[in-house]
Amino acid sequence: MAEKTGGPGLPQERRLVTAIPGPLSQELMARKEAAVASGVGAVMPVFARRAGGGVLEDVDGNSLIDFGSGIAVTSVGNSAEAVVRRTTEQLTQFTHTCAMVTPYEGYVEVCEELARVTPGDHAKKSALFNSGAEAVENAVKIARTHTKRQAVVVFDHGYHGRTNLTMALTSKNMPYKHGFGPFAPEVYRVPVAYPFRWLTGPDNCAQEAADQAIDQITKQVGAENVAAIIIEPVLGEGGFIEPAKGFLPRIARFAKDNGIVFVADEIQSGFCRTGQWFACEDEGIVPDLITTAKGIAGGLPLAAVTGRSEIMDSAHSGGLGGTYGGNPVACAAALGSIETMRELDLAGKARRIGEVMKPRLAAMAEKHEVIGEVRGRGAMLAIELVKPGGKEPNPEATATLAKACHQKGLLVLTTGTYGNVMRFLPPLVIGEDLLNEGLDVLEEALAEL
Ligand code: PMP
Repeated sequence: MAEKTGGPGLPQERRLVTAIPGPLSQELMARKEAAVASGVGAVMPVFARRAGGGVLEDVDGNSLIDFGSGIAVTSVGNSAEAVVRRTTEQLTQFTHTCAMVTPYEGYVEVCEELARVTPGDHAKKSALFNSGAEAVENAVKIARTHTKRQAVVVFDHGYHGRTNLTMALTSKNMPYKHGFGPFAPEVYRVPVAYPFRWLTGPDNCAQEAADQAIDQITKQVGAENVAAIIIEPVLGEGGFIEPAKGFLPRIARFAKDNGIVFVADEIQSGFCRTGQWFACEDEGIVPDLITTAKGIAGGLPLAAVTGRSEIMDSAHSGGLGGTYGGNPVACAAALGSIETMRELDLAGKARRIGEVMKPRLAAMAEKHEVIGEVRGRGAMLAIELVKPGGKEPNPEATATLAKACHQKGLLVLTTGTYGNVMRFLPPLVIGEDLLNEGLDVLEEALAEL
C-alpha cells in the first residue's frame, strides 16, 4: 500500500525509467495543449502522479528530486501526515459553510496561530483568503481604509501577484503584465538595495538605496499621501534578492515616522523557509501587516493578512472576505502544516539545508565563472548566472542548465527580473542524502554547460 500513496510513504530516490518527458507525459501534454489555455505554462513537461518527502514521481514512473516544492508551497512535504489526517477528518465533517455565513472553529484557530507565529507581541488579528495575490490586495484595502490615503509604494524587482492591482504592484513586464493593462493607479515604484547589481558596489548599497527610495517617496508622492509600503523581505520572483542589511529597517522606520502601514509580503519567504518563521525576523522587523500564503497550508489554497488589531479592524464589517476565503479544509491543512513545522522544527531543518547547500554552491561558483553570485538563506537559495568575465545576465545559460537538470531528474526553477537566477526551494523535510544527490546533479549539469 505504501508505494501506492504519495506523502511520506513514497520511496525517496531519484529514478529515471524513461527519457524526460516520457511517453505518458507526452500524451498528456498533447491533451493539455488542446484543452488548456496557452497562457498557463509548465516549467517541466512531465505530469505528476505522486509526491512526498523530497521527491515527485511522474506518470511514467520517473522519480525526480524536488528542489521546487511547487514554488515554495510544500515546505512540510506533499501529503504530509498531519495535513492528510486533519483535512480528511474535516472532509468528513463539512466542506464549506462560508465563513461569512456561519463561521467555524478552524478559521479562528488559524488566526490564533498566525497571531502566535508572526513577529511582534502586540495584539493581532487576521483575515483569510484563497491566494497570495488576494491577500496582498486586501492588505492594500486595509491600509487605505486605515490611513484614509491612497498611494502604495513598492520596489524594483518586486512581485505581488497577477490580479489587476497586484500586476500594478509587480515590477516585471514579461510574462506577468505584458498586454494586460491598464493597471491600477496610485502605485509608485522605488529602488531596492540589490547588492550584486548596485552601481556603486555592495558596500554603500543599503544606505544609497534607502536614501533614493525615501527621496522619491517624499518628493514624487508625498509621504503624507502614502497608505502602504509593501516589500518582500527576500524578493522572490525578482531573483531571490536579499536587500542589503540595513535597508529594510530604514524603510520600516520611515514608514513608522510617517504613519504609513509597513507591509511585509512573506508569501514566498515565510513559514520557516528562510530558517525562522518569517524572513523579516532576521533584522528584527515587526511589520504592521504581513501577508502569507504558499507554505501556510501544505498545498491547499489559503492565504492571510495578519497585523495590528487596530489596523486590521479599520475595515467595516462585510468589507473583507469572499465565498471561499478560509475554507475549512484549507484551514485544517494549515493547522496540520503549522503542527508539522513545530514538531519537526522545520525552521531548524531549513537552516540545516542552508548549511549543506550554501558551501557546495559556493564551491561550484569558485569553479564556474558563469555563477556570478550565490545568495539566500535557509532553504531559499539561488545562484545568479552571468556571462563569464562580468555581470551581464545570462538567461540562456540559466535555461540550458535548468533543462539539463530536468533531464537528469532534478526539478529546479528559474527566476529573476533578467531570467538568470536558478532558485532552490526544497521541501524542508527532504533527506540530506537526496539533497546532496540533487547538488551532484547540478554540479554535473554545470560541468556540461
Ligand atoms: N507575493 C509573493 C512574494 C509571491 O511570491 C507570490 C507568488 N509567487 C504572490 C505574492 C502571489 O501569490 P499567488 O500566486 O498565491 O496569488
